[in-house]
Amino acid sequence: MKLDFTDRTVLVTGGTRGIGRAIVDAFAGAGARVAFTYRSATAEAEALRADLEARGAEVLAFQSDAASTASAQEVVDAVLAAWGRLDVLVNNAGITRDGLMLRLTEEDWDAVINTNLKSVFNFARAAYRPMMKQRSGAIVNISSVVGVMGNPGQTNYAASKAGIIGFSKSLAKELGRRGVTVNVVAPGYVATDMTAELSEQAREAMLGAVPLGRPARPEDVAHAVLFLASPAAAYITGHVLHVDGGLAM
Ligand code: NDP
Repeated sequence: MKLDFTDRTVLVTGGTRGIGRAIVDAFAGAGARVAFTYRSATAEAEALRADLEARGAEVLAFQSDAASTASAQEVVDAVLAAWGRLDVLVNNAGITRDGLMLRLTEEDWDAVINTNLKSVFNFARAAYRPMMKQRSGAIVNISSVVGVMGNPGQTNYAASKAGIIGFSKSLAKELGRRGVTVNVVAPGYVATDMTAELSEQAREAMLGAVPLGRPARPEDVAHAVLFLASPAAAYITGHVLHVDGGLAM
């Protein structure tokens, strides 16, 4: 089945790089109108917008700190003002601030929880009413294999990503009867800026545990997101889809 998002409107947080960029690209390629946010990479955001528009897509870009509740509301309001509806929300923005527990600061904890988890609350809350009124919509939240398995040095990150799973299952139960699905994609090791900082040793160790024997490409994650946001997944909600080459089984 070819996934067609013509006349659908999509909002992706953290769309300038890595997985978010691949998601933006895939939705635009499938005919959607795509809005995306970013934190600070204005030049990359402008370049992405120009590239997608040159390929005939309708695109909106917003500089917006995903940790800000007010800013999330403004972004969703702007998308609704421009396009009249919001069909798909993808909560992708995320950061790491790694460190073993003894060295982890309160600031490291707050930054990761606010950017990775509070952001999901912020955007889901802003999208809740319009999707409920439409009686349709799909929310896809990006968690991580680390939220399922844990990882030393990532207590803050693991807590944020496990929190996304509990949040999503609860929201799926709230919104099911309104025709809105809420699902999670849990990627394993994806080759992006986020993982570029890993030591060669850590990378080798992680890859050694992946049955498929390679890191994910950002596109591998994007394909799963498009599926969960499409009518092909209309009867799937509250699900955690692992896109990790078999790492977490
Ligand atoms: P990158 O670091 O490559 O990109 C992160 C994106 O998020 C950028 O667009 C960045 O914007 C944006 N962003 C960061 N902080 C904020 C913020 N406060 N407000 C708005 N946007 C923000 O990350 P990845 O593509 O690797 O990761 C994307 C998601 O996938 C994250 O949630 C991550 O936790 C998750 N994930 C990644 C894995 C991996 O192996 N890479 C594995 C499992 C999950 P800007 O360019 O302006 O900085």
